[in-house]
Parts: sequence; C-alpha cells; structure tokens
Amino acid sequence: MALKRLAMITQEADGWQVPDWRRLQADLITDVAALCEALDLRPEQIPGGVDADSDFPLRVPRRYLSRIEPGNPDDPLLRQVLASAREREPVPGYGPDPLEEAAHTPVPGLLHKYHGRALLVVTGACAVHCRYCFRRHFPYQTHLSGGRWKQALDWLRAHPDIREVILSGGDPLTLSNERLAGLLEELAAIPHLDRLRFHTRTPVVIPERLDDGLLALLDTPRWRVTLVLHANHPREIDPALSERCRALARAGVTLLNQAVLLAGVNDRVETLAGLSDALHDAGVLPYYLHQLDAVAGAAHFAVPDPRAFALHRALRARLPGFLVPRLAREEPGESGKTVLKG
Ligand SMILES: *Cc1c(COP(=O)(O)O)cnc(C)c1O
Ligand code: SF4
Repeated sequence: MALKRLAMITQEADGWQVPDWRRLQADLITDVAALCEALDLRPEQIPGGVDADSDFPLRVPRRYLSRIEPGNPDDPLLRQVLASAREREPVPGYGPDPLEEAAHTPVPGLLHKYHGRALLVVTGACAVHCRYCFRRHFPYQTHLSGGRWKQALDWLRAHPDIREVILSGGDPLTLSNERLAGLLEELAAIPHLDRLRFHTRTPVVIPERLDDGLLALLDTPRWRVTLVLHANHPREIDPALSERCRALARAGVTLLNQAVLLAGVNDRVETLAGLSDALHDAGVLPYYLHQLDAVAGAAHFAVPDPRAFALHRALRARLPGFLVPRLAREEPGESGKTVLKG
C-alpha cells in the first residue's frame, strides 16, 4: 500500500496531471443568483419563483451551462438544476423515502431488493444536484460512516447468490480512478460476482469524466461491464459525450440510458424520440423511462399516468422497438421495477 502510494506521488511529480474532469467538476455554480446571472436571467423571470436557500443546495458544473439556452427561463436543462420555490410546497403522498429503501438495507452502504443484484452506495457525492432526485433526503451520513465499504464487501462475500454489483450513490463516477480501482480490486476478489454495473449522471454534465484511465479500468476480461447513463433530454448528449461513449463501447462496455419522465423537461413525444435518436447515435440504448418517485419537493415534475401512457404509445408508434425505453415505476415491496402498460 505504502509502495503504491509512493508510486502515485512519483507519477504526479513526473508530470501526471490532475485530469481535466476533476477541474471541471470543481468549477461549479452553487448559488441561484450566480446561475441566473450566468444565463442572462433575472430570478423574477423563473416560473413559480426560485428558492435561494434550499436544504438541497444548488450544484451545477459550469461545463453543463454551455448546453443551456441563455435568457430562456423555461429551458428544460435549467429546470433540472435550478431550485424552484415549488419544492417547498407540501404535497400529500410525497415523502422523504418514497421507495422505503431503509427497509432494504442489510448493512450500511448496501441496498438489496432484487434477485441476484445488490446496489452499493459508494458515495453521497454527485457532480450535479438534480431537483427531481429521489435521494435528495437520503441519509448518506448513516450509510457512509465508519469503515467505508467494509461491511458492504463482507455482506457481498457472504452472499453467493449475488452475481451483479451495481455501483451507485450519489454518483460513483465522482470518485477518482484511483479510488475506483481500489474498490474494483476488492470486488474482483469475490468470485461469484461477474456483472459490474455503474449508474451515473456525471458524464452527462462532464463528458470528460469518461477518460482513458477509466476506460483502462473497465477494459478487463474479469467483468461484464454495463454503464447506465442518466440523461433526460436530447440536448444533454453533446458531441463530446457521444465520442466518449463510443470509446467505452469499443472497450466492451454495454451502454444503456435511464431517464426520468419530467414535466416541462421531456414530456413531449418529439423530445423523447429525439433523446432515443441522440442516444443511439452515441451507441447507447434506452433502458428505462421512469415515472417520478414520490419524493417530497419534486411533485411539480410529475406527469400523470394517462399522459405517460399516451406518450409511450406515441413513441412505440414512431421508433423501432429497441429505441423505446421501458416505462417503469419503482414500487416498494415488488421483486423488480414495475413495467407500466399503457
Ligand atoms: C433499480 C434497482 C436495481 C436494478 O434494477 P434493474 O431492473 O436490474 O435495472 C437493483 N437494486 C436496487 C436497489 C434498485 O433500486
Ligand atoms: S446525479 Fe442522480 S443521485 Fe445525484 S442528484 Fe442527480 S438524480 Fe440524484
């Protein structure tokens, strides 16, 4: 261990640079007024008003701003990141833990709900804070305290029926390649695990995160690797992201996308079809289109089921089957995500 650390320091001294994505990740807007100013908007123009003092603070990498249209208070990308005063309206049925995840936590840092798969909460950090996030009230402190991943790794070792480990969070790609390498090394030593899955939104806001170091980590015969991107709008798939996704695909990684159906963001058939097209161009297949989880603060993003079904029918009517995501909802107590039939 000491040797390894020494080697890393030497490499830095030899001119290894801090990767670009780490600088981009640190170049952030965390303030409503600053975000509005950067986009030529006045806070009064925002429909429903802004919340300058939210418990779930604003976090927007500047790298993402280049894709938001300046001067447009209704921009679908802006809506996903700007804290709205509507988040404070209490709505019946919307609570802090809509998926009852607390009931599926055998040890801190690990969720086990579905057959053969276990989800590791590897970090509480995210590159961006999404206003619709169902984990906005997640008790990361309880999950990440003390021995880090140790208890979760012990649990995985003791459960040979688990084949697939899902790295989630937070966002696993906020971790450095060095930290990920350490975790993957421990997971690789557990013989019954053979599928490795990442769920991440970081590359959507900072495509540079899919760097060559990460590719090298994932390009290994030890794992069948799947990366599930979380993009919600076609404009989020910029050329830099497409290029990096194609590089990952060449390294043998299966690329999927999971979107959330969000009012005012992607609740039009043209937008959803555009998203599927843009993903396909990048070598990514649509996987799920999620109905919003009923988390307190996000009710204004909800799309009623009948509308969701109509959108899904329209998508099926205009796209090849493999570009139509499954419309799904997560229901507490079920053995898998519930696929909705419209
Ligand atoms: C969503 C989820 C999974 C993965 O479900 P898939 O249908 O395989 O994508 C696994 N574990 C937990 C706790 C989840 O929430
Ligand atoms: S990246 Fe995912 S976990 Fe993080 S705030 Fe956004 S939706 Fe939530």
